[in-house]
Amino acid sequence: MDILLTNLQSFLLNILLIYFCFTLYFKFLEKKVNRFTHTVIVISICGISIIFSMSFPVILLKDIPIDFRQLPLIIGTLYGGRLAGAILTAILLSYRFYLNVPDFQTAFVVYALMLLLLFFVLSFFKRALTVKKKLWIAFCSSVAAALSTTALNLVLLPLTATVSFLIFTLIVIAVQTSGVLLSVWVIERAKKAILLSEEIAKLEKLKTVSTIAASISHEVRNPLTVTKGFLQLLRDPELSEQDKHYYIDTALEALNRAESIITDYLTFAKPSLVNVEILDLQKELTMMKNFVEPYAALNNVEIKMTVKDNSYVAGEKEKLHQSIINISKNGVEAMPRGGILTIELKRIGNEAIITIADTGVGMDEEQLERLGNPFFTTKDLGTGLGTMVVYSTIKAMRGSIQVKSKPLQGTQFILSLPVVEREISTD
Ligand code: ADP
Ligand code: MG
Repeated sequence: MDILLTNLQSFLLNILLIYFCFTLYFKFLEKKVNRFTHTVIVISICGISIIFSMSFPVILLKDIPIDFRQLPLIIGTLYGGRLAGAILTAILLSYRFYLNVPDFQTAFVVYALMLLLLFFVLSFFKRALTVKKKLWIAFCSSVAAALSTTALNLVLLPLTATVSFLIFTLIVIAVQTSGVLLSVWVIERAKKAILLSEEIAKLEKLKTVSTIAASISHEVRNPLTVTKGFLQLLRDPELSEQDKHYYIDTALEALNRAESIITDYLTFAKPSLVNVEILDLQKELTMMKNFVEPYAALNNVEIKMTVKDNSYVAGEKEKLHQSIINISKNGVEAMPRGGILTIELKRIGNEAIITIADTGVGMDEEQLERLGNPFFTTKDLGTGLGTMVVYSTIKAMRGSIQVKSKPLQGTQFILSLPVVEREISTD
């Protein structure tokens, strides 16, 4: 009874270890390692399993220990390749030598032959396209391997060739082969699942890239509109030389912006806040006010800016500019018959508050709720991406946005951004 219990314990321990090794192997499979690392991982995991299963054998029939050492050896060779197979066999034989099991030479010959057999089936295994074929190959290898050890046992202990020994051998072959088949099946399934998740990741990326392509045209339209405005102003024959230069310079600046936005968005596929710098909000807002002013003037909109307290925030300059432009442009577009766009900067505690308010058409509750969702637009030529960019930028800067709006009265965009102290500035 005691022996049975010990055997059961060893058996369960073996299964637990093999299960543990598989879980570990799958973790590495998911991580996409190169071939060499893969071989090293297979050798380590299967090597440990071999030593462990040889240390805790199940002794069913007196003197003949059985263990599952062949399982990691077969699986290790099939998935790790020839080098792994050779090293695993070496580990197995060395450990056997260390344990002082008699008849080392015979075991050496048997395992060398087994290794040759595994090398032979390996190329078929690799080329097998279906899981069914792989299972067949694994089945044959396992049966052949188990038979070879049975032959070894017969050579070692010729008197054991009894009926009970034969039944026992059949049980060992059955258990080991089921183990090998189950392992191959589980590994193939896991591989398939990993391939599938890679496909999904690729599709996701494609989706993002196409969304970006759509937004590029939108984001580039802003600076182009500004340039257009200046070019129209240049038609005026009474323009002074100085104004002309100023308009041309600003138009060129806008074109440069468009160019850099395109570059920005092409690298958007790998989102990161690489160009984070300390931004002087008053300076940036003044710049943006000057930038949008011509466009506002074209639409009879006056821009008023008040700075109560200046603050510094951390963020990407281009993206902050883009956000301010998007909000201001929406404000101007909300006032088709002209009006006033106010930009206000103040500080409450550790937050810089930027308020951009218009006196335009406003939004009802349903529109307010949908604001920020991609492709929500009420304009004929709108893309519904502008506010989405604003929301993602402010979120990346760890700020928040509040929008207050009343139909026919106007809209207020309130951005709060965490303030950083000037001392940590890098410039
Ligand atoms: P687009 O400007 O291309 O329509 P946006 O994402 O910039 O896309 O804006 C989405 C929608 O939100 C607009 O179509 C408009 O209906 C509404 N909206 C945004 N800002 C304002 C505003 N200041 N006043 C009124 N409606 C606005
Ligand atoms: Mg817009």
